[in-house]
Amino acid sequence: MINPARMKDEFLDLVSISSLSRREGSIAKRLETILKGMGATIEVDDAGEKVGGETGNVLARFAGTRPAVAPFLLSAHMDTVGPAEKIRVQVEGDIVRTDRTTVLGGDDKAGIVAILEAIRVLRETSIPHGDIELVLSICEETGLLGAKHFDTGRLKARRGLVLDVDGVCELITRAPAANRLTFTVTGLEAHAGICPERGLSAIQIASEAIAGMKLGRLDAETTANLGVIEGGLSTNIVPTRVIVKGETRSLSVEKLEAQTEHMRRRFEEAAARHTVTLEAGVRRARFEAQIDRQYERLDVPDHAPIVGLVNQGAKKLGRTLTTRATGGGSDANVLAARGLEIANLGCGMRDIHTVNEWVDLKDLHTTAALVLETLRAHAETTAVG
Ligand SMILES: [Zn+2]
Repeated sequence: MINPARMKDEFLDLVSISSLSRREGSIAKRLETILKGMGATIEVDDAGEKVGGETGNVLARFAGTRPAVAPFLLSAHMDTVGPAEKIRVQVEGDIVRTDRTTVLGGDDKAGIVAILEAIRVLRETSIPHGDIELVLSICEETGLLGAKHFDTGRLKARRGLVLDVDGVCELITRAPAANRLTFTVTGLEAHAGICPERGLSAIQIASEAIAGMKLGRLDAETTANLGVIEGGLSTNIVPTRVIVKGETRSLSVEKLEAQTEHMRRRFEEAAARHTVTLEAGVRRARFEAQIDRQYERLDVPDHAPIVGLVNQGAKKLGRTLTTRATGGGSDANVLAARGLEIANLGCGMRDIHTVNEWVDLKDLHTTAALVLETLRAHAETTAVG
C-alpha cells in the first residue's frame, strides 16, 4: 500500500528543488519525468508565456481501467513563496523542516507528493479506476495566475480535489471571494513653507479616509486590509498623489460588496471635503478607485458528492473528516467558478509562508491514503455494471 520510504525520498527530492513563482521550470521538468515514468501523458500549456514564467501548467492524464467511471481531477501547485533560493532540509524522525533561512515549500509539495503516491498505489495494486487528470499549476502564490490562465475546457473531469491547505483529514469547502483595491488620491502640490494654503495634501486626505475605515476582522466571514501606501515626494512639498492598495475578502458576496463600497466611500467623502480657491478657480481633490475581483468564492455544500466521497475514504481509514471554511483563496476557487465540483483537501503542511514551515511525514502518508480511498470510493460509486 502506501510506501512511506518512497514518499519520504520523493518529498525530500521535490522540496530541495527551488520553485519560486514564475521559476517553476526545474520542478516542472522533474515532475514531468516522474509522471511519464508512472505512465501518464503530459501536456504543458502556454500559461508560462502569458505570465512571464519558465513553464506553463502541467496537465498529466492517466488512463482509467474502468471506462464507466467518470474522470476525476486532482490538483496542486508547483510554485512556492520565498525565501526559497537554496533550501537546506533538516530531518528529525518524521519531522521535516529547513535550517530556518527559507520556507520548506511543503506548500504545496506535500500535496503533490500525496497525489503522486495515491496514483502510484492505485495503479500498482490494480484498483479499478476511471481516468485521472492531474493539474500541477504555476503561480498559485501570485494571485492564482496559473489556474486563471488554465483552460478548463481541456478537462474531462467535472469533480475533484485540490490539495493545498494545512490540516489532515480536513476538507475546505468554503473560501472567500476577494477584491483587490487600489485607491488613488490626487491633491495639489504647493511649496510647503511659502504657500501651503495653495495646496491640497493627498496624504492628509488619504489619512482621513483611512482613519474612519472599518478594517481587520469585520465578522466571522469578512476581512479587510490596506497593505501598501505610496506617495509624496519631499518634506517641503504638499503631496499631490497617494496610492493606497488593499483587499477585502468575504464568504458572503453581499458583505464583500458592502465592505468594498464602504472603503470606496470613505475615500470619496474625504476627497470631497478638500478644495482650494485659486486665481483660476476652485480646485478639488480627486479620487479614483480600481476594484478587481481577485477570485470568486468557493462554496461546496456538505451534501455534495465530493464531500461524500472523501468522507467514505476517511471512514475506510478509521478517521473522521471535518469540513470547514478558510480565509484564504486557492486554485479551487478558480476551478469552482468554472463549474467544477471541487474542494480543497488538507495535506499536512504546517506554519506555511514562514521559515519555520514543517511537515510531519506521517501526515503525508495519511493524506495519500485518503486520496487513494477517495479514488476507490469514486470508482465504486460511479461504476455501473
Ligand atoms: Zn499553497
